[in-house]
Amino acid sequence: MLKFKCKDVGFECGFTAKGKTEEEILSQCAAHATKDHGMKPEEITEDLKSQIKSKIHKSWF
Ligand SMILES: [Zn+2]
Repeated sequence: MLKFKCKDVGFECGFTAKGKTEEEILSQCAAHATKDHGMKPEEITEDLKSQIKSKIHKSWF
């Protein structure tokens, strides 16, 4: 299981994405960022995605 915490990229937010692959995490983050942070899809840049990827961590739970 991979996990990513939204607050790890600087948002005041309790959202955690969970998935088996980086792609799953990224698509959850994209949906979350547009829905809950009012971001536009074009604001989810490759740079932001690589920041997210660098903060994804493995979890056994
Ligand atoms: Zn968030």
